[in-house]
Amino acid sequence: MSDNPRQELADLTRSVRRSLERERAAGLGELLVSAASRARGTGASAATGERGRAIGEPAEASTTVEVLTSASDEPGDDLEASGRSLFEEATEALPSFHPPLHPWGIEARAAIAKAAEPLLAAIAEEVKVCEKCALAKLRTLAVPGVGSAKSGIVFVGEGPGADEDRLGEPFVGRAGQLLDRIILAMDEAKLIPGVPLNRGTVFIGNIVHCRPPENRVPLPHEVEMSSPYLLRQIDAIKPRIICCLGKTAAELLLGMKGALGGMRGKVYRFHGAKLIVTYHPAACLRNPGYKRPVWEDMQLLAREYQAD
Ligand code: URA
Repeated sequence: MSDNPRQELADLTRSVRRSLERERAAGLGELLVSAASRARGTGASAATGERGRAIGEPAEASTTVEVLTSASDEPGDDLEASGRSLFEEATEALPSFHPPLHPWGIEARAAIAKAAEPLLAAIAEEVKVCEKCALAKLRTLAVPGVGSAKSGIVFVGEGPGADEDRLGEPFVGRAGQLLDRIILAMDEAKLIPGVPLNRGTVFIGNIVHCRPPENRVPLPHEVEMSSPYLLRQIDAIKPRIICCLGKTAAELLLGMKGALGGMRGKVYRFHGAKLIVTYHPAACLRNPGYKRPVWEDMQLLAREYQAD
């Protein structure tokens, strides 16, 4: 027994706490990056090591990812001194890891567009004869999508309306004419210098490929059956940036529910592309006040396309 039981108890408590924090750090270390420890230049020796990799990240991309450690190898020490918990420090520093962005610019895109052409044609043929859900029975024509991978810009709508159902092409009705004018205005304003923007250089697709009755929002089962075609189109196109037109597209691709106004103005990532959200052209026709924010979103699209 020690001469100083109070001191002994304090030492024991401290030791147990350190040990718990070390275990917690070992678990979190697989997931978390400590920008703070990098800034301190400490504990970064594991930056290129096995434990430094975020889950699912390839070994060669691990150089910016670090394990949560500190110089003393006693995670509790400096945190204790600063009055913060280990968990607080770790969550502040959650990693921002994305696969590399697909390239932009006419030349870089030409080879991608060439490779995408037969893939897009094959997907279109599948869409035209798809019978995976009940919408197939109601359609005149399925609507596979239009355009190319040349610019690396993809617009995603909800689903065909009456005009699209009749003609087999997306965005050909009133909303489509507005979308055409928006794309033309981007081209005329040279928002992306050197990259011509029109229905042939962008790709325009939809979440579902057959018209829902009365233009209702597609049902979850219809989205489940039809959206894989869109995802395959996106993977073939390797877009630089995707623009979700309206809530249905945004909610599916972002995997979250929310008001459209809260989703726009931000830049997300999706399958090696940047992704932004804007109002659906049909919403702009109903509420012309949306036209200005849509134009701002197109300016954001152009800036983000050319950045990084
Ligand atoms: N609205 C859409 O969302 N898609 C179309 O193709 C046409 C109108």
